[in-house]
Parts: sequence; structure tokens; C-alpha cells
Amino acid sequence: KSKALGKNSFSFFTNELNEELKEKLRIKSMIELALKNNGFELHYQPQIDISSGKIIGCEALIRMIDPIEGMVPPNKFIPIAEQNNLIVPLGQWILKEATSQLKKWENTPLSELKLSINVSALELNHKDFLSSVEKSIQDIDHKKLSIELTESVLMNNFKNDLPKIHKLKEMGLTLSLDDFGTGYSSLSYLKNIPFDFLKIDKSFIDDILEDPKDKMFVQIIIDIAQTMNLTVVAEGVELKAQLTMLEQLGCHIYQGYYCSKPLKCEEFEKLFLSHKNYN
Ligand code: C2E
Ligand code: MG
Ligand code: MG
Ligand code: MG
Repeated sequence: KSKALGKNSFSFFTNELNEELKEKLRIKSMIELALKNNGFELHYQPQIDISSGKIIGCEALIRMIDPIEGMVPPNKFIPIAEQNNLIVPLGQWILKEATSQLKKWENTPLSELKLSINVSALELNHKDFLSSVEKSIQDIDHKKLSIELTESVLMNNFKNDLPKIHKLKEMGLTLSLDDFGTGYSSLSYLKNIPFDFLKIDKSFIDDILEDPKDKMFVQIIIDIAQTMNLTVVAEGVELKAQLTMLEQLGCHIYQGYYCSKPLKCEEFEKLFLSHKNYN
């Protein structure tokens, strides 16, 4: 009896592994196809200066547009792109697309906007990373481009990445520490890397109104950031009351559905040109 059970649970296991593997392979070929067929889009989420209520920049967030499945969110394909080294060509596409967007906004009412992009560990580690960045930023104002790094990206290969990160800064780009407070938070990143922006993770903002501990953490993070002369960005702001509290705590910038979800380029431009205040 126990033998039969053992056998069944074994085949159950292999079936599940098979399914998982199949799904990964399926997404891998979707990525390869999308790389060939121009199947990616950058969407832009506004970043708002809390005191003026004005949109001062945006974060580029990638979407895969599959002919059958429609829009696929990054959490579903970025990890698989990372596992298959497809993140390198994908990252190069992102860099090109983002910088050509900045170029298009020159000499328009959107010319003052900053644009952030997210960079994965394997991209940063890649030997050609700095030269691709250098090439892409040739004819844009370097300080308009911000590179977002997470703590998990940094812990991957900190020793090797550190000189590269300093080089990015020397090139005049701005640096953001993304998802601060999650994962492997270490104050040594703040000590060793010349960040300009610190982004407080959405998970702290979610309960900031109900949970005094979250409010306290956000206050502490903001105080540290201000002491170090960093600009604080709150992620995932959905409610006016959250925004009011963040303003009281001294936060500078926010992103979140309260203003807008990430938008296709034309919609983002329309939103910006409507000149509304989002505070
Ligand atoms: P992230 O960089 O921390 O981006 C913020 C995520 O929070 C985005 O999800 C955004 O749509 C979502 N968000 C913003 N405001 C709100 C809100 O008010 N409510 C809720 N519920 N969500 C909000 P998204 O676009 O699905 O991206 C998820 C993650 O995927 C990103 O987290 C980033 O780590 C990664 N990612 C996205 N685009 C890229 C990319 O171009 N390259 C790389 N390497 N990673 C990317
Ligand atoms: Mg980000
Ligand atoms: Mg984030
Ligand atoms: Mg995140």
C-alpha cells in the first residue's frame, strides 16, 4: 500500500514539475518571440512632487504584449528572462527605448521630466552594461535618466558592481534605491553607494494609516534619507489620506494609483499636458 502511495505521490510531483517547466519554457519562447517582433512596451507611471502636486518624472515599467495572451506583467516574465539570459538583450531594448523617449521629449513641454528605469542584477553584472549605457545616453541630458536598483540586485554581486555603480554616477546619471525596506535591507548600501533617491516600498505604504508600526518605519526611513540628503519617493500611494500622512512625515515625491497607474506613452503625455495637480 505504502509503495503505491509512494509511486502516486512521485508521479504527482513529476507532473507538477513538468507543468512548471512547460510554463517556463512557454514564457521563454514568448519572450524570444517578443524580442524579435517588437512585442514589448514601456509604460510610464507618473512621479509627483508632493508639495506642488506636479508631475516631475516617471518610472518606465515594461510590459510584454503577446499576440494571444495580451498584456503580460513583468513579474511573470522578468524572472524567466533572468534565468535564460534574455534579460541582457531585453535590458538593452529598455535602455534604448527609454533614452529615445527622453530624446523625443526634448524641446517639448515634457522636456524637464526625469525618467527612471529598473535594472536587474544580471544586466548590471554583464560586461557590456556600462558601454551600452554610455552609448544610449550620448545625446540626452544624463541627469534626466535614473537607474533603479533593488537591494536584492545589490546583494547579488556587490563587490563587483560597486565600481560600475560609481561610474554611472560619474557619468551624471541619478541613482535610486528601489523597494527600500524589503528583502535584505542593509544600511551599508546607503553608506557605500551615492544614491540620489530612496524609494519606500509599497508594503510600508499599504497600512500606513492603520498600523502605527508601519507609520513609524516610514518616519524612520524618511529621517534617515533626509539626514543623508536623499530625496524620498513613496511607492504605491492609493489614497488621499496616505498622501496627506506622507506629506506630514516629510516625504518628497510619490508614485501610485492615487495619481495614475502606469500608462502608455501617449496617455502619459496627455495626463502631463492636462496640467492638473495631484496632491
Ligand atoms: P517596481 O520597480 O518596484 O515597480 C513598482 C510596481 O508597483 C509596478 O508594478 C507598478 O505598476 C506597481 N504600482 C505602482 N503604484 C501602485 C499602486 O498604487 N497600487 C498597486 N497595487 N501597484 C502599484 P509592475 O509594473 O507590475 O512591475 C513590477 C516589478 O517588475 C517592478 O517593481 C520591477 O521590479 C519589475 N520591472 C518592471 N519593469 C521592469 C524593467 O523594465 N526592467 C526590469 N529589470 N524590471 C522591471
Ligand atoms: Mg522600480
Ligand atoms: Mg519598487
Ligand atoms: Mg517592486
